Amino acid sequence: MSKIRILPDALASQVAAGEVVERPAALVRELVENSLDAGARHIEVHAQRGGIAMIRIVDDGSGMDREDAMLSLERHATSKIRTKEDLGAIHTFGFRGEALPSIASVSRFRLATREKEALVGTEIEVNGGKLVAVRDSGGAPGTVIEARSLFYNVPARRKFLRTENTEFAHVEQQLRLHAIANPQVAFTLTHNGELVLHLPATRDMLERIRGLVGDELASRLLKIEETTVQGVTVSGYIGGPGMSRSSRQMQTTYLNGRPIESASISYGLREGYHTALMKGQHPVTFLFIQMDAHAFDVNVHPAKKEVRFHDGNSVRDAISRSVSHTLENAVKLPTGHAPARAMQTAPAAAHTPPVPDNRQEQFAMPVAASSAPLRNIAPAPMLTPQPQPSAPAVSHRVADVLERIATGRSTPAIQPQTPEATSPKAAQEQEEPQEPKAPAKSEPPAPPEYRIIGVLQKLYVLMEGKEGLVLMDQHAAHERVNFEKFRRAIESGGVPCQRLLLPVTLQTTPRDADLLRQNLAALNRLGIEIEPFGPNIFKVETLPAFLKTDDPAAWLDQVIEELSSLSTKSSSLRLSEDAIATIACRASVKSNDVLSIPEMQALLKDLFACEMPYCCPHGRPTLVQISTAELERKFGRRAPG
Ligand code: ADP
Ligand code: MG
Repeated sequence: MSKIRILPDALASQVAAGEVVERPAALVRELVENSLDAGARHIEVHAQRGGIAMIRIVDDGSGMDREDAMLSLERHATSKIRTKEDLGAIHTFGFRGEALPSIASVSRFRLATREKEALVGTEIEVNGGKLVAVRDSGGAPGTVIEARSLFYNVPARRKFLRTENTEFAHVEQQLRLHAIANPQVAFTLTHNGELVLHLPATRDMLERIRGLVGDELASRLLKIEETTVQGVTVSGYIGGPGMSRSSRQMQTTYLNGRPIESASISYGLREGYHTALMKGQHPVTFLFIQMDAHAFDVNVHPAKKEVRFHDGNSVRDAISRSVSHTLENAVKLPTGHAPARAMQTAPAAAHTPPVPDNRQEQFAMPVAASSAPLRNIAPAPMLTPQPQPSAPAVSHRVADVLERIATGRSTPAIQPQTPEATSPKAAQEQEEPQEPKAPAKSEPPAPPEYRIIGVLQKLYVLMEGKEGLVLMDQHAAHERVNFEKFRRAIESGGVPCQRLLLPVTLQTTPRDADLLRQNLAALNRLGIEIEPFGPNIFKVETLPAFLKTDDPAAWLDQVIEELSSLSTKSSSLRLSEDAIATIACRASVKSNDVLSIPEMQALLKDLFACEMPYCCPHGRPTLVQISTAELERKFGRRAPG
């Protein structure tokens, strides 16, 4: 006897419904997409109890006549595509004709619709996939779709629903996604009868974003100037350096107006942000990509959340370029107050008051990052890692390890360097890395007019600027300066190195040995001459010239440990040169160096010569500003607001 049966229609719909509508937010996605496809200018979404008890969508779109209304509830009934060719280039949100029958099969469903010119509309009721009633309706032109008691007839599915609050949070997020991409459409959202979102129609994308995320965040966004590279047009708004979130919730990306997620896009963003984004953090983006509908396939995911690009690399490239270009052009401090580069008028030194001798004494420690020639220094007393108030309060394994390397027990100090120990080549290389002439880059801007006031906790340099108080995290600033120097050196053919007094041999685990072997070339280019010296043993002859350590072995151990934790995450043993550079560089900076005023000035100058002065390679801010207005408010000299 045959075991294969054709599923009854209602059951088939319920099975399909599991894929298309897994939770109330998915209903919102499908129904709002339908309303947008129908040309609606006003869309209301009403939810009861997280959307589980009820979701109702009211639109003023085209509406349907009775025949279409009935048809819309049949499986695979769609007005949006007709032929196989249409499927190759989809211009509407919908195309599968699955949503309405799926929703109707797992809820108590009501559809009321009326075309603009029609005398009378149609109302259809369906319970769990069974048609209950069709009647005339006298509603306004447009369409109302209501789904009550979601999954009332599919207890197995109902079990997977979360709390009402969680479900509603997803509903709201879904509506936000659509609202951002469609500023010309007015949206309203209510929950249990209370107004949650009210977004009037606007022509201005930023205006819509402001309505959703508030003035403060919106004012800190950077605009991506619309550019087209290889048929991929990128535009929108993104957070500046240092603005990030620990979840992907604010990383919104759209393809031809459809909210989507795609690995190519995420890679492009990561690449574009590069070191302006802290590890483990996600950018804030409202990124819009427009491209020919033939160049990708949306028909790969039941929820249409993912797409497949025919040429993912060009998408990734276009995004990465637009983002990095936008960030480099950004001239705002992380607080978003003063366009720092616009403040430059006179060199900082002119405004520096004479410093008492004892202070000079106190600031006597040289720094790797200043433009002074490299010197050997003894390890300075340890500083307890300072909480960084303006950095998001998240803990990242990678960043933590790096922090430990930079501030912890085996803080590198320099290997005494004697002339005999240095080969002529190494000695020559050991000089301060030549700043490669930046190709066709205009003069780096002079640092803004900051007057140095003092240092807080041996870490924060306090400065007076035109707009108020400016704090520089000297540790983060060093990292940025070192990192860019390092990167420029790599780009121009290699990092100067210093030869070690005695080569260091490293005993590693087999896994770390593999890791090192796969990354030998990159390490060499970074000034770390390392070669296999036996099974799981390596010999290290040189270290990067700017590195100051009296325990090269410990420094290398830390770098390897860090590389290895990174490679576990990315599951590949081959690491990008940048990743290695960031680690090696970060490990070379100390937080507790006491700087002299001229050294601070040099650091500030070096910092402002950087491509991305406002954050360290891990995305933490280097500068924070407290405006005079803010101070006045705090001291009650000015009314709040
Ligand atoms: P799809 O959107 O994939 O075509 P749906 O099941 O979501 O499939 O919708 C079926 C059809 O019903 C659509 O093709 C459209 O013609 C019609 N429809 C659905 N919602 C609306 C609406 N809000 N206004 C006008 N027509 C609608
Ligand atoms: Mg649809």
